[in-house]
Amino acid sequence: SYPIDVEAIRADFPILDRTVGGDVTTPGESSEDTEPLVYLDNGATSQTPRPVVEAIVDYYYGYNANVHRGIHQLSQEASVAYEEAHDRVAEFINAEGREEIVFTKNTTESMNLVAYAWGLEELGPGDSVITTQMEHHASLVTWQQICKRTGAEIRFIEVDENGRLDMDHAAELIDESTEMVSLVHVSNTLGTVNPVAEITEMAHDVGAYAFVDGAQAVPTRPVDVAAIDADFYAFSGHKMLGPTGIGVLYGKEAILESMQPYLYGGDMIRKVTYEDSTWEDLPWKFEAGTPNIAQAVGLHAAIDYLDDIGMANVQAHEELLAEYAYDRLSDHDDVEIYGPPGDDRGGLVAFNVDGVHAHDLSSILNDYAVAIRAGDHCTQPLHDTLGTAASARASFYIYNTREEIDALVEAVDSARQLFG
Ligand code: PMP
Repeated sequence: SYPIDVEAIRADFPILDRTVGGDVTTPGESSEDTEPLVYLDNGATSQTPRPVVEAIVDYYYGYNANVHRGIHQLSQEASVAYEEAHDRVAEFINAEGREEIVFTKNTTESMNLVAYAWGLEELGPGDSVITTQMEHHASLVTWQQICKRTGAEIRFIEVDENGRLDMDHAAELIDESTEMVSLVHVSNTLGTVNPVAEITEMAHDVGAYAFVDGAQAVPTRPVDVAAIDADFYAFSGHKMLGPTGIGVLYGKEAILESMQPYLYGGDMIRKVTYEDSTWEDLPWKFEAGTPNIAQAVGLHAAIDYLDDIGMANVQAHEELLAEYAYDRLSDHDDVEIYGPPGDDRGGLVAFNVDGVHAHDLSSILNDYAVAIRAGDHCTQPLHDTLGTAASARASFYIYNTREEIDALVEAVDSARQLFG
């Protein structure tokens, strides 16, 4: 049995009923398709349940209007929904209130917002930014480029042979020159769950800020930004049952208050003259232009859906599937799995089969209707460190089952036979 009612959950996701296997011609067509879809690419994006789609439809059919501008009723209704979505996110991650919740496009934009609005202003020669070898490009490339532009130094905490951060190395790197420590909460390649509260404390001890990339964490476990004491925390709606086009930047109010805006324009200003402008209150100061209103409504519904299941239950389900997949895949001597052991990881498994390129593997798995990721998963430097250009990654969510992992393992067996 599972910690959650998987069958009832699956009934909320019409896409899980479709088949695949025909030629890709018209998106969504199933006419030539024969095999039931096994969707194991949730680390890239999750599927969307009926209540989320319905919330978005209700918005467009019922109260679609621009926010904050109109006195008319629809605009007021849209504004209430948009603002309440901020409150719901704040409650979900235990922030103090909507002032601390900025809506962006995705985790990547949340990262860039801080890098531009804080990093470009505050960093300079003699400063250091500490990050890790297991960062997603969203974080790694952003800090790398901001450091190049400002003359600050970027340093990487090493990953040990078990896929965990070398905490002695972290203690060595985080020093008086450090202004920012930016790390991923749950690695999208290794599945490692990092000790983010501990690292945040190390950052604060030297007077630095801590930025946590929670793209893989918020969808899969309870996250409490106050307990972590992170200064910034970022995640994406589309990996947690929500729509694409919405991400979150959490920031401590006093810090967001002290920062310059990232984008200028309408909706983020209070008073404008030809000579100068003043800024709107938080969080609107960081949300220039017409925002992602429908997506905010969808994210609100996604959080309600996850909260109904209970994030502790979601985590238990993820861990159960990760351990099962780890155990089944590691039955074979020719499979190398990256990251920590099966009983100590987030809900994903990246691996390689000796003699089969990850892309070929993924392509054969596709013939068996098993959808996984192949490539570097936006962690190229980490793959260099692991000594491979690419890996295959299966990532799980609330609607996945042990039987789907069995289908994965059988398809891997077929690929192995095909490649001798
Ligand atoms: N960080 C991590 C750990 C991720 O897994 C991802 C998505 N693969 C991102 C950042 C970037 O997310 P997005 O593409 O939604 O900006």
